[in-house]
Amino acid sequence: MTGAVRIDGKAAAAAVLGRVAEETARLVAETGVVPGLAVVIVGEDPASQVYVASKAKRAEECGFRSFRHALSAETSEADLLALVARLNADPAVHGILVQLPLPRHISDAAVIRAIDPDKDVDGFHPVNVGRLAAGQTAEAFVPCTPAGAMIMVRDVLGSDLSGLEAVVVGRSNIVGKPMAQLLLAANATVTIAHSRTKDLPAVCRRADVLVAAVGRPEMIRGDWIKPGAVVIDVGINRLPPEPGSEKGKGRLVGDVAFDEAMAVARAVTPVPGGVGLMTVALLMANTLRSAARAAGREPPA
Ligand code: NDP
Repeated sequence: MTGAVRIDGKAAAAAVLGRVAEETARLVAETGVVPGLAVVIVGEDPASQVYVASKAKRAEECGFRSFRHALSAETSEADLLALVARLNADPAVHGILVQLPLPRHISDAAVIRAIDPDKDVDGFHPVNVGRLAAGQTAEAFVPCTPAGAMIMVRDVLGSDLSGLEAVVVGRSNIVGKPMAQLLLAANATVTIAHSRTKDLPAVCRRADVLVAAVGRPEMIRGDWIKPGAVVIDVGINRLPPEPGSEKGKGRLVGDVAFDEAMAVARAVTPVPGGVGLMTVALLMANTLRSAARAAGREPPA
């Protein structure tokens, strides 16, 4: 390994959460408005249960009210939409998060569309997608994972990426596309690559900023990376357990071969300990912004 920086997701997330807690205390003291985050979970998916518990815990640590709605896997779409309507109308709730994926009989898209765009702290509602695409980043709720990844890019390169090439591998609505919009808004020249891209290694080698959001363990190798690039690894992949492993769980790895990347890049996010930790922090930041707006305040930057 060389002198590449291992970007510290724990420190970056702690910095965001610290600012959110401070601004929350000020908002409460000056306006009496306490940010409220409603988290809705349908069914018993164990990974979703863990995410939801960690979101509720962070919310409380930031000084928010957290409202948890755990519904059975048999809940109908109509009942879920009725709950969303109640949360939309509740002035104590500033952010609504419906944990995805939902059971098959419920349409994710219909539920996302039902959330008030001004409480859509996940940033998945078409109105927020449109605001981001139109460059209205101040008004939009930006999806939390790319927003967190962008802070990590800025921490290394500053906020103006003029003249730099950015390549985002992955075009999902929750990571790849919004990440590309954010990089474009920061003046980078952006390429979005995906499973149909020809000669992906050559495309990646153009990148001064390379973002991997694919879901394939260590797919991006060291020789795909331009020397001195900033590499943001969004992927979270669990490898099969090694023979004889005590816990019966395999290692978590990203979409980038981390050690190889560290040998050529300027800075790399690790997995675990990288972008993943920023996602929950940015959810809190979005909820605080929503509460500040509801209190008639300019939302914190
Ligand atoms: P999706 O499965 O929705 O999208 C994956 C994208 O990768 C698709 O656009 C797909 O292309 C592309 N892709 C798949 N295989 C290849 C390939 N061989 N070459 C090039 N492109 C390929 O995933 P998400 O965007 O939801 O998530 C991506 C990763 O990020 C996952 O590992 C996920 O766990 C992780 N993640 C992490 C989060 C965090 O908090 N850190 C939050 C969200 C996700 P195509 O469109 O052509 O099929």
